[in-house]
Amino acid sequence: MRKVAIPFVILAVITTIGCRTTRENITTTTPQVDVVAAGKVLTAVFQQKAAEYRALCYQAYNFATVSLDQFLQERGSKPPAIMTDVDETVLDNSPYQVHRSLMGLDFEQESWFEWTSRAEADTVPGALGFLKYAASRGVEIFYVTNREEREREATLVNLKKFGFPYADNEHLKLKGATSSKVARRDSIEMHFNLLMCVGDNLNDMSGEYEKKTTAQRFAQTNKDLSAFGRRYIVLPNPSYGEWENAVYQYNFSLTPAQKDSIFRAVLQNYPY
Ligand SMILES: [Mg+2]
Repeated sequence: MRKVAIPFVILAVITTIGCRTTRENITTTTPQVDVVAAGKVLTAVFQQKAAEYRALCYQAYNFATVSLDQFLQERGSKPPAIMTDVDETVLDNSPYQVHRSLMGLDFEQESWFEWTSRAEADTVPGALGFLKYAASRGVEIFYVTNREEREREATLVNLKKFGFPYADNEHLKLKGATSSKVARRDSIEMHFNLLMCVGDNLNDMSGEYEKKTTAQRFAQTNKDLSAFGRRYIVLPNPSYGEWENAVYQYNFSLTPAQKDSIFRAVLQNYPY
């Protein structure tokens, strides 16, 4: 479903563990641990302990509420609907990241299934209030996620535990044959006036962000500038996403050392 991320601060810490950093060893040090797994500790700290993360989520859902009220003033020919992602949009999976990264491990599919089967994810701040409000205004909610069929039951249990509206089979659109959400978005739009897309990944909004380079994704973001906070509601996710896949050029079999090399090649720096 997803691949991982890396905060730069952690990268700097890791590369200097056990030795004083000099101009020479900065360029030659090979990390002894998985820099990405280590980095996810800090991103999980941000997700779990930063009031700023919480505020960003509230900010997103506050904008969503204002935009929804505006959209609902215009009558569409079809009933209104919202498409929302699940992971890091309405459910918080940071305990999985902590669990893996404290073992020095990265994302791995079977361990992910084990986590989601627990149905223990908490809510992303603001998500429940917004979606309940939308439902109260007569808007149907579709949960479009790249969780798989085998995760269906536990996902519904997890959503229902908090009382998320429309948490049922009809409104849960799982991955199926492709991770692209374009076909699922189109199928909703056939019958509904899709007011907005909510997600932590720009792929949740548009197919124009899928499998694109970082530069192409930036360019598309500039094109879509006026949609953010209106039709596109974006939640913060510093841990993983298509942005990271783009940095790796969609090579999902890179070693930690190869990832380290990529970071050194692509990140903006200044001379030592
Ligand atoms: Mg997500």
